[in-house]
Amino acid sequence: MSEKIHCLIIGSGPAGYTAAIYAARANLTPVLYEGMLPGGQLTATTDIENFPGYPDGVSGMQMMDDLRRQAERFGAEIRYGSVTSVNFAAAPYIVVIDNETELVAHTVIIATGASAKYLGLPDEQKYAGSGVSACAVCDGFFYRNRVVAVVGGGDTACEEAIYLAGLAKKVYMIVRKNYLRASTIMQERVMRHEKIEILFETETLGLTGDGVVQGVDVVQHKETPMETKQHLEIDGFFLAIGHKPNSEVFKNWLATDEVGYIKTLNGTPKTAVEGVFAAGDVADSNYRQAVTAAASGCKAAIEAEKYLTQKRICNA
Ligand code: NDP
Repeated sequence: MSEKIHCLIIGSGPAGYTAAIYAARANLTPVLYEGMLPGGQLTATTDIENFPGYPDGVSGMQMMDDLRRQAERFGAEIRYGSVTSVNFAAAPYIVVIDNETELVAHTVIIATGASAKYLGLPDEQKYAGSGVSACAVCDGFFYRNRVVAVVGGGDTACEEAIYLAGLAKKVYMIVRKNYLRASTIMQERVMRHEKIEILFETETLGLTGDGVVQGVDVVQHKETPMETKQHLEIDGFFLAIGHKPNSEVFKNWLATDEVGYIKTLNGTPKTAVEGVFAAGDVADSNYRQAVTAAASGCKAAIEAEKYLTQKRICNA
């Protein structure tokens, strides 16, 4: 017979762990599955300096470890494994872990996060954490008075370029088309910013540097008579070519937007399926911050408790 769980939390970033802390303290005996990357995206960043309560900053690994221990302290059960399929046709819901273990959950909090897209160059791996980043707000501070490049021409790339221009000496934007996809206002802002230089019709070939990023090789006007290769000296290489929410496994049951972010109802973590909630980056195309993810994990746990109490499943 399948194991029955009151509150199943899927994902182990700030949203998942915060949901686990609140659910455990509300006696919902939560079980959290960590997924492929225990701790989530923040374990891939260097220091987190913008999470309230850490005046000296904290490493992503440390913060996730602290959150995990905090959840366990109140009785949350943390398990290794990934959700491979779900059936939300009727409550309680069926969730399969690693294609083999079937669980039955009265409430499900989806906190599977989003993954930044990368170009797929081997150098992105080589210099991961040593000059390559997909989060200007997380890592920009390390590039004060340095030179950085941002790849992408959408709103995220413009926002990141403007944010970085507030810190860095110079920001190159590497844009593959001959126009920016970003909204007009963002285009105007980057175009008139004296520290930002936009390189249109430009693609990245590779990164150079001795242990850390020190340069980028680019090609302009590729495969045209005007094709030229250039080497730019940079200290940081930021990807801003979009994020992919980790919502694939839920798509048959929950509405998502065109990019794949799970749609929630009226600014709450509720989905259209009663008892199923979505928190953190998997449902947030806009803010994508650790602190906003944690806040939505908290809200999801509070909603799960209300649901379980109303249905007289627990705490009734
Ligand atoms: P977008 O998909 O809008 O833009 C991605 C950018 O990256 C495009 O310029 C795209 O180029 C480029 N790109 C994609 N793949 C590659 C690649 N392999 N090599 C080089 N360049 C590549 O993503 P965003 O994250 O910018 O925005 C996502 C959504 O969120 C949008 O709807 C945006 O408006 C919204 N958003 C809104 C904000 C706000 O309102 N404040 C802030 C941030 C985002 P190409 O154009 O050639 O495809």
